[in-house]
Formats: sequence, C-alpha cells, structure tokens
Amino acid sequence: MPETGCRDTPILKQRGQHEVFCGLTGIIWLHRKMQDAFFLVVGSRTCAHLLQSAAGVMIFAEPRFGTAILEETDLAGLKDAQDELERVVTDLLARRSDIRQLFLVGSCPSEVIKLDLGRAAEKLSARHAPKVRVLNYSGSGIETTFTEGEDACLAAMVPVLPNTDQRQLMLVGALPDVVEDQALDLLAKLGIENVSVLPARTLDSGIAVGPNTVFALTQPFLGGTHAALERRGARHIPAPFPFGEEGTTAWLWAVAREFGVEQACFDAVTDAPRARARHAVAKAASTLSGKSIFFFPDSQLEIPLARFLTRECGMHAIEVSAPFIHKGIVGPDLDLLAEGPTIAEGQDVDLQLERCRASRPDLTVCGLGLANPLEAEGLATKWAIELVFSPVHFYEQAGDLAGLFSRPLRRRDMLKLEAA
Ligand code: SF4
Repeated sequence: MPETGCRDTPILKQRGQHEVFCGLTGIIWLHRKMQDAFFLVVGSRTCAHLLQSAAGVMIFAEPRFGTAILEETDLAGLKDAQDELERVVTDLLARRSDIRQLFLVGSCPSEVIKLDLGRAAEKLSARHAPKVRVLNYSGSGIETTFTEGEDACLAAMVPVLPNTDQRQLMLVGALPDVVEDQALDLLAKLGIENVSVLPARTLDSGIAVGPNTVFALTQPFLGGTHAALERRGARHIPAPFPFGEEGTTAWLWAVAREFGVEQACFDAVTDAPRARARHAVAKAASTLSGKSIFFFPDSQLEIPLARFLTRECGMHAIEVSAPFIHKGIVGPDLDLLAEGPTIAEGQDVDLQLERCRASRPDLTVCGLGLANPLEAEGLATKWAIELVFSPVHFYEQAGDLAGLFSRPLRRRDMLKLEAA
C-alpha cells in the first residue's frame, strides 16, 4: 500500500456541462445477461435510435428490448397514455411467451416524465403474475449517466427479492457469462458455498436476500443497489475491484476472510492464476510503463482502473475523474492509488479539456464525443465505453485489460514510424 493513498485527497467537484451517454445504454449488456427479460423503453425516437445504433447486431436476432414511442398526440390525456402503455405491454406479452421479466424504462421527454411508470408496473405485475414480473426504472439522460442505468435496474429488483435467513454470498454486477463462471469457479475452489449473482440469469434462479447475506460488488457504479441491499439487511464486503492481478487477489481475499478461508488454501487456489495474470499484464505493461494517463468521467470504472494502471502497469495518472465518487465503494481502491493525481467528481467539460490539453497526457480515456477532437489535436485516446463492453474482470482477463490501454499507444507509435 502507498504511504499516502488518495482517500483523503480533496476532490475537485465540477458541476458544469457534461458529455456522457444516458442510462439507456446499460440495456445493451443487461439484455444479454438476463435471458428471460425484456426492456421496454418508454421514450422518443431519439431513444430508439440510440438503442438501435448501439446494439446494431440485434437486428439479426429476436430482440429483447424495444421502444414504446409516445407522441405528443398520444398524450392528449395522461390517462390515455397510461392505457396505451398498458395495451402495448399486454400485446407484447401475448406475442412473446418467453418474457418472464419486463422492465419499463423511463426516458427524458417531458411527456414520459409525467407518466407514472411505477404505478403502471405495479398494475401490470398484478395482472400478469406469477408468470411475468414487471418493474420500472429510469434510464433518462436527465437522471442517469451511462452505467447508472445498470445500477437503477438492479436497485429496482432488490425490493422484490424474496427474503432468506440463509448465510450466503451475493455477487452484484452484470459480468459476461464466461467471466462470471470464472469468478464462481474460484469461489467454489475456496470452499465458499451458497453464492448467488445479481442480476440472475433468469427469474427462477432462486436468488433471495436477508440479514445473513453478505455482498461483494463486481462493478463500482452500483451505489443505488448497494443502498437497496443494505436496506434489506445485507452487509457489503468493501474491497478493491477485481481488475488486474492485484485487484482480483485483494477482492477474493476480502471475500475469503469473511468466510474464514485459510491463507494456505487461498494461496493454493490463486497462485497459478495469479502467475498467469502477472505474466499477461507484463507483456502490455512494457508499452504502458512510464506513460501518463488522464481520465475523463464516464463509466465510473476510472478509480479502480487508475489503481490497476499505476500499480501494475507503471503508468502515471495525471487526473482521475468519475461522474460520482462513493468512498464506501471505491475507498479501498483510493487507498491503493498513490497520492499525486487530481481526483475529480462530475464534469465541466470545457475546463477539463483545458486541463487535459495543458498536461498533454500520453493517453486520455474519454467518451466518444471527446475522443475524435482530441485525436485530431494529436492526443492518443481510449474510448471508455469499450471498457464496459469488454470482458475485463478477474485473473484471466487481466492481460486483455492492460492490452486495451496499450493498443492505442502501440498504434500511435506505428503511425509515427510509418510517417518518419
Ligand atoms: Fe436521449 Fe434521453 Fe432518450 Fe437517452 S433517454 S436517448 S438522453 S432522449
């Protein structure tokens, strides 16, 4: 651990214009994860376009998300709009018998905000229970940024989970199935039984919560879900996030300690994958070592990733900013991040661009909207959205995670060589 970490570093709080996706984006990975769920966005044509372009591949498959577009004319009376929404849902459920969980997802247009989606979900749930459960949350760009959509979705599920007194571990956060299976395999080898995952792959998974549930987050953007689980009596296991060899080991060790796993057993299970992860990271780290990095606020993965890149890949962080900083969640990562970088929360995009240009980082992590102009100014960038869509957690993905950052730098070096 560094002598002084960043937990007590004063946070630069910015409340200006920000450039981030809205929470609807989460549907792209959540619909893959929850195999019997359907996401019905109650929104505008803009929302429909965002989803279609972000998830273009879905046109080849039976989609599990759609948009109920409400026109001004639909809203001559709000009661008509509620009735219309209920009719759309009833038609959808009649057509698609595979749907077991339906999420009504709110968006920005003022007509949508006036609708009471909570009441609609309650009524529809009562009508279609027990076969289908209907819940609602907001993915609106006014209320949510990018990964907050997943948080809002998971938080909406917590109050309706059945109650249990069983001692159990819950992993919280949507991971690609292959990565989730690796995590479950490691926990099983450590002898930790009764492990459930939120979001579960299907409604019938048997997931429940109660006062003997402890939970470990696998994503750092789940502040609302964290609070909702605590309200149900569950207890959080604080830990650095499982990015890289060190992060994964610290995360697993925090869970192992909670369940009384002996050090010798822990070492026997983790020694080999740790060595593999270190080896894989070292390959990419040769490109990253000594380079500087600047994080714009986007996915909320920024703090754990800065910890990984500085400690395991030898990078130097100039600024690490995140849309929100919840110390109860990212505190252990802040402890490990050596003092030095500016830690910023929120955004005032023009001021931040000025700071970025002045510091000329070797690599800038930002959203799509900022990447192109910065590239045009000669800065190498990494799209934050790729970090959310790619499998990056736990030991076997540690090398790929480092590779996501080293590739833009290698590409730039090659372009320079060709131009020379
Ligand atoms: Fe745009 Fe709002 Fe729809 Fe997101 S929810 S696509 S920000 S209108």
